Parts: sequence; structure tokens; C-alpha cells
Amino acid sequence: MTTAPSSSLPATPDVSGVAHSARRQQVRVLVDAVQMLSLARSIPEIQAIVRSAARRLTGADGATFVLRDNEQCFYADEDAIAPLWKGQRFPLEACISGWTMLNRRPALIEDIYADERIPHDAYRPTFVKSLAMVPMRTADPVGAIGNYWATPHRPSEEEVELLQALADSTAVAMENVRVYQELEQRVRDRTEELELRTRELEAANERLVELDEIRTHFAHATTHELRSPLTAILGFASILAARLPEPEADQAAIICQSATRLSALVDNLLTLAELEHGELPIQPENVLVSDIVAGSLRTFAPAAGGAEVALDAHVEDRLAVHADPLRLAQLLDNLISNAIKYTPAGGRIDVRARVDGEHMIIEVADNGIGIADSEKARLFDPFFRTSSGRATAPGTGLGLNISRDIARAHGGTLTLRDTPGGGSTFEIRLPRSRAEPA
Ligand code: ADP
Repeated sequence: MTTAPSSSLPATPDVSGVAHSARRQQVRVLVDAVQMLSLARSIPEIQAIVRSAARRLTGADGATFVLRDNEQCFYADEDAIAPLWKGQRFPLEACISGWTMLNRRPALIEDIYADERIPHDAYRPTFVKSLAMVPMRTADPVGAIGNYWATPHRPSEEEVELLQALADSTAVAMENVRVYQELEQRVRDRTEELELRTRELEAANERLVELDEIRTHFAHATTHELRSPLTAILGFASILAARLPEPEADQAAIICQSATRLSALVDNLLTLAELEHGELPIQPENVLVSDIVAGSLRTFAPAAGGAEVALDAHVEDRLAVHADPLRLAQLLDNLISNAIKYTPAGGRIDVRARVDGEHMIIEVADNGIGIADSEKARLFDPFFRTSSGRATAPGTGLGLNISRDIARAHGGTLTLRDTPGGGSTFEIRLPRSRAEPA
């Protein structure tokens, strides 16, 4: 009795169903391999991925990973049921992987002993009966992947397609590794170079710091050494200027003038050396502006007399400001020294002080050669001198720059004010903070 198969019974999977799931399995293997290849960072890593994926893709009994090494094929790696040719090299012309690379296409051989391209002697000790060999990168093969079967097997087109896809991904991965390693090498070289430069710079810097210390020390020592003879010259020259008859008195006044200038220059050079080490150190205290102004006037009286310029102060007695007395005097000296230098004989200089809210304002006004509008913007730049200034007197262009730094170190400003009727007026503006009238 025959019974028709019940339609409710589960159907046994047919041939195409088996093939379908096998295919799915193969694609899975390929996708996994490609993913791992994309992360590979070295050739051995690639070899390990490829040799096992190649075998699993086709269910072959062995797989080889062959690299082209100039005119030779290098059997770099394998995964097989028994040893093949790992570590061996063959001429391109004398093996099937070489043929694949030279012809840039796969070789599918069901019976290797019936194929002329196969070096039979090399295969006799092995299990191989059939093989499929695909080139890595068809355009310009860098190697080949081989699949081997121990029983006669006719490699299907699908198998070859999958192998070829794996081989192409392998070629890309190898190129990535090459670029990556090249980059790494470049980074290593660059880092080494940078480290070398850093060491050189550090050594040079140490030497510079040493030199700088020597220089600062030298600058301090020499400027201090310069100061004492200058003070003596100034003192004696002003006594002589007062006591000698004309024309010797005039000559003594010229000595005074020069010595005063030199002493201002020495002060500025010392300040410059200090400024190079960062912010100018100041030691503020409550000082009477009239005391500072009177001091500067005493210093410059001989020079002003020699230049035939009237130098006067208009400062109330009890005005106080919180400032470093030596620095404030230096600032004022710079402005008065300039006013004398840049005011022709017969001119006048007035020093005034007043309180403006929270600020103390000290101004030095002259009716000298003045400063052109076009040169005002650069006036406080280091080494800047106006064209008329250069034509009038020698100078360094440092005084105003340093003076402004001194004002700033006090939290104040130094500016040039418009002077109606010609000449120049410089204004020092200092916060009076904590200053009490003495
Ligand atoms: P130095 O007087 O040594 O050149 P300063 O920095 O003190 O340097 O001044 C910079 C320049 O500003 C001077 O060269 C001069 O051209 C100009 N200057 C400064 N003060 C006056 C002034 N009172 N009148 C006219 N020009 C001045």
C-alpha cells in the first residue's frame, strides 16, 4: 500500500536548500574574514586570517598563502591536513601559483597529474589531488591563495568567486598594512628627530640661560660701576659750573648735561635688563610727588641751564601717591631729559601734578620741536625716534618705551597729550591707591 506523503509533514530539505545554507555559511566566513582583514596591522596577521578562511570557504583539505618575492613564489603560510610547502620558494615559471600571478587569472585543476603546469615532483610527497589557485589583486598580483583537495574535486565557479573575493580583500589589506607601516615608520622617524631636536634645544637653552645670567650679572655690575663715577662727575661739574667764570662755567654745564644724560641711559639699561626677565619689580610706598619732582629738577637744573631752557615745577606740597620712588624718579627724569633735549634754547618746560579722582596726574610740558601726528602711534615703540628728534639730538629710542613700562608696572599709563600751540606734553597717570596725604 502506498500512501501519499502527507503535506503536513515537514519536507526534507532538498538539494538546493542545502546548497543555499552552505552558500550562506560561506558568505558568512568571507564577511568575517574581510572584517578581520580590515583591522589587520601586519602581514603575519593577514596570513593567519587568510589561511584559515581560505580553507573554510571551500571546505578544502588545505590552503596556502603565497607571496610574490620578485621572480619567486614564497609559500609564506599554510593550513592543511598534512604539510605542504610552507617556507619554500619556487621560481615563478616553475609553479602553479607563479602561473596564476603571471597570467593574472585563477587556475582550476581537477587532476594535477594530468596538467602540464604542475611540477609533479613537488606534489608527489603531498596529499594533493585537485587544486584551485587565485591571484591576489588581478591587475598586478602580489601573491596567490591556493586551495587543495585530497580527493579528486572539481572546483566550482562559486568557490573560485569566493576565493577571488578573499584574495582581492587580502591584497587591499596588504596595501593597508604597507601604508600603515610606512606611516608608523614616518611617525617613529619624526618622533626621533623631534626628540633629538628637543635635546639639542634643551642643551642650547641651558647654555643660553647660563650666558644670560652672566650677561645680566655683567650688565648689573658694569652699570653700577658706571653710576658712581658719574655721580662724582655730576657733583663736581655742577660745583664748577656754579663757581667758575664764563666761558669755563658753560663748559662745566656741558659736562653736567652729558653726565646727566649718561646717568639716565645707565638707569634705563639697568631697567631693560630687569624687564627682560619679566615684569618690572617695583617697591611702592607712599611718596610725596613734590619730593620726587624737586629731586628731578635738582638733577636737571644744570642741564636745563646749559641748554638755556627754563625748567619749572608747579606741584602742591602734600600730594601723595603710592609708587616706587626710584622708578617714579626715573620716569620723570626720562621725560624731563627729553624735554630739555628736544626744546631749543629760549624754550620752557613745566612740570605739574594734580589729582584726578582716583588718579595722580603728573605732566611734563614743553614748547619744543613737538611730535608729528603721523609719528605719534609708534612713539612708545622700542628704539623708535621721530625724524625731527633724530635731527635734533642723539638718543636711543628706549627712554619712552621703558618709561611706559614703569607706568604700567604701577597700574598706570604714560601718554602723549595734544599740546595746543606746539611742543609736547607727556602725562603720567598713576592710581593713587592707599596713598594718604603725608
Ligand atoms: P631718545 O630720546 O633716546 O631718542 P625716547 O624713547 O626717550 O628716546 O624718545 C623717543 C623719541 O621720541 C625721541 O627720539 C624723539 O624723537 C621723540 N621725543 C621724545 N620726547 C620728545 C619731546 N619732549 N619733544 C619732541 N620729541 C620727543
